[in-house]
Amino acid sequence: MIKIFIDPGHGGDDSGATGNGLKEKDLTLDISKRIKNYLDDHYTGHRIKMSRTGDATVSLSERTNEANNWGADFFLSIHINSGGGTGYEDYIYNQLDDSSETAKLRDTIHSEIVKQLDDVMNRGKKKGNLHVLRESKMSAMLSENMFIDTKSDADKLKSSSFLNKIAKGHMIGLAKALDLKEKSQSDGGLKETYIVKKGDSLSQIARDHHTTVDTLMEINNISDPDFIKPGQELKVTEPSSHDKSLKVGQTVTLKKSADKFTTGESIADYAKGKTYEILQVKLDRVLLDEIMSWVKKSDIQ
Ligand SMILES: [Zn+2]
Repeated sequence: MIKIFIDPGHGGDDSGATGNGLKEKDLTLDISKRIKNYLDDHYTGHRIKMSRTGDATVSLSERTNEANNWGADFFLSIHINSGGGTGYEDYIYNQLDDSSETAKLRDTIHSEIVKQLDDVMNRGKKKGNLHVLRESKMSAMLSENMFIDTKSDADKLKSSSFLNKIAKGHMIGLAKALDLKEKSQSDGGLKETYIVKKGDSLSQIARDHHTTVDTLMEINNISDPDFIKPGQELKVTEPSSHDKSLKVGQTVTLKKSADKFTTGESIADYAKGKTYEILQVKLDRVLLDEIMSWVKKSDIQ
């Protein structure tokens, strides 16, 4: 199984760079969660751990220690640039040469990201002596996604569809670089289609199917929520017949009878019968802390 460690830069007391009403720490967390959700929705055979899942203060050595102790295969750190400039760039450790494994992985990821960000300046593939790149034992890359203190860049960062593009580029790049297995259509389970009728809005369709506009945009690869047309076929997620009142932050028990994660991988016995906090809720599944995995709603109580 491939272990991917995603590190949303800054957090808690450290807001990172700020500008144009934005804080770097919020954007890095948002983008990181989008990358994680995208990967979990589209690929299988991997696990993702994040250095933080909320607005927490985490030191640089805590981040690399956690990834090293977990035995991550890849370390991805997400940042937003500042200091006046525009566009996208990424970093690997400056002691690595261009034929290193890490450099090759970065080449693949870089080219997929800039493909998605086609209207953005590509500042190139860079090297630096940064803690998370130097102290992580596995291949590591840090991406700097636009300049928070440049208004035109900040305007882009305020758009959900642009953040989705950033996340999608990272997702496809990681999947190619790490050779992740694409989920077959049926693995996602519970996906149904809805034909758009005249006068429909994505937010109404989302409400009707007990899902969110973001989810519909994700599973249908829609970049502009205002652009749906009558007759269009949308994937929607079928509401689960199980408990719909689950909330983020709620503590639940993973049933002893639980068999598999939503990825299809078996749940280890030691993880069963324990209590976890819910980090995210989707229609048929919840993301649990500690094990950082999606489980079916029917498998918790
Ligand atoms: Zn930063």
